[in-house]
Amino acid sequence: MKIEKFMETGKLLQKFLFRLLRRAKSIYLLLVLIIALGLSGWTVESTSVRIPIIGFHDIIDIQNPADLPPRRLAFETDYTKQKLSVFLEYLFKQNYWFLSSQDLYVYFIKKSQPLPPQHLGQKPIMLSFDDGYEGVHKNALPLLEKLSFIYKEKGKFVLFVNPLFLGVDIGGDFLAHTSCEELRAGYQKGFYDVQSHGFSHKNLTKLSGKNLEFEIAKSKSALRKCMGDLDNNKVIGAHIAYPYGALNRKVEKILPKYHLTGFLYNDGYLRVKRLRNNYRISRMTVSKDTSPSELIYIAQRASTLKKKE
Ligand SMILES: [Zn+2]
Repeated sequence: MKIEKFMETGKLLQKFLFRLLRRAKSIYLLLVLIIALGLSGWTVESTSVRIPIIGFHDIIDIQNPADLPPRRLAFETDYTKQKLSVFLEYLFKQNYWFLSSQDLYVYFIKKSQPLPPQHLGQKPIMLSFDDGYEGVHKNALPLLEKLSFIYKEKGKFVLFVNPLFLGVDIGGDFLAHTSCEELRAGYQKGFYDVQSHGFSHKNLTKLSGKNLEFEIAKSKSALRKCMGDLDNNKVIGAHIAYPYGALNRKVEKILPKYHLTGFLYNDGYLRVKRLRNNYRISRMTVSKDTSPSELIYIAQRASTLKKKE
């Protein structure tokens, strides 16, 4: 009897010890997990910045009959001044940092300079406009100017331009394009960052040899001819957004000769830590159906910049 009792007690004790050990083990594992998460969370926070780069095209004013059919044909990528205004107002109110393409390169990609202290605590965003349409100058720039004045912070638009079409306004389904003078005016006021979109909006992946290099080289030289005298830092035309977002290895091979970075159209955020190739920076497309609240949601998911970065 006594032995059985003793054995039973022993078993119970054993069970109890095992349970204690198991619990201790799980507590120990939990602790390790918490510490690891904390550490990795900290590292992620400090090195992986998420930046939304938004891609607009033309901006139309729905209160202006000249911007509406039949006087101006409607396109899938048109965005209204009225909707843009809601989005911009949000960005200014929330104190976003409007990046230029060179800011993006210097502070986040090459990291050749530390983040300027005045931008800590801000969320970065880059607003880009492709094709150099007149509507951006006529409808969007005044909004940016007004809000920059009200909020005492300078907004920035990155314009990816095809120099062949500067100042071209032939009507029909070929939309009016900004002139070199307009680009210069917006740049001198500090609102425009002027970059390449290829010389004549050809799909670069369908070109080769001299034609390919011409499309890239001529675009840059024409932009520099238009505004190089205003640009001491030689950053105009240092960056490119590919027409149709089209890129392949052949194109990529000659890009470094002319450009520091290149922008795609793939609806992703730029995640700085994951970027392996300066010529494949993600951008998000905007269409006529994109609501301001969708854009605001995208912007909200940008990282807040912290000291470690
Ligand atoms: Zn384009």
